[in-house]
Amino acid sequence: MAKVRVATTWLECCSGCHMSMLDLDEKLVELASKIEFDASPITDIKEFHPVDVGIVEGAVGNEEQLEVLKKIRENSKILVALGDCACFGGIPAMRNFFKKEEVLKRVYVETESTVNPEKVIPHEDVPKLFPSVKAIDQFVKVDVYVPGCPPDPKAIEYALRELLEGKIPVLPPELLSYE
Ligand code: SF4
Repeated sequence: MAKVRVATTWLECCSGCHMSMLDLDEKLVELASKIEFDASPITDIKEFHPVDVGIVEGAVGNEEQLEVLKKIRENSKILVALGDCACFGGIPAMRNFFKKEEVLKRVYVETESTVNPEKVIPHEDVPKLFPSVKAIDQFVKVDVYVPGCPPDPKAIEYALRELLEGKIPVLPPELLSYE
């Protein structure tokens, strides 16, 4: 039987959702007999190709992230929002309480670890920041939501197994994590 092709990406996030996926440990080895990972931080393949399932961690806060999101959506039959940031905006959306200019000033000028006597805020060679951070379904169609910060590995396993059986997973309440 042909393996199910999966691509994953991370946008505005902490990578904790991918770490939670890796926390499947030996179950990941078993799933690897049925899944082939294509573009992903796990494989370090950068170019997207057509896949059965695309998994997105993180929210959208800048132009580059939106471009990546559109590419994985175009190449995926089913798109999964993995984690609270992708599903709802999550932690990165906390910057929505501030104006974009305040955020840029804090990051490039004011942070304790920054040495920037000229107080230069770069506008070239960095992705253009959007005024606010949004969940991925504000830009593209999402087929499956796996919330949690990060989602429990059991929830990720449940979703993957359902997808392998050709079902669209709906997580049972006991697998929803809001810790
Ligand atoms: S949902 Fe939580 S663990 Fe996942 S990327 Fe966002 S902050 Fe990190």
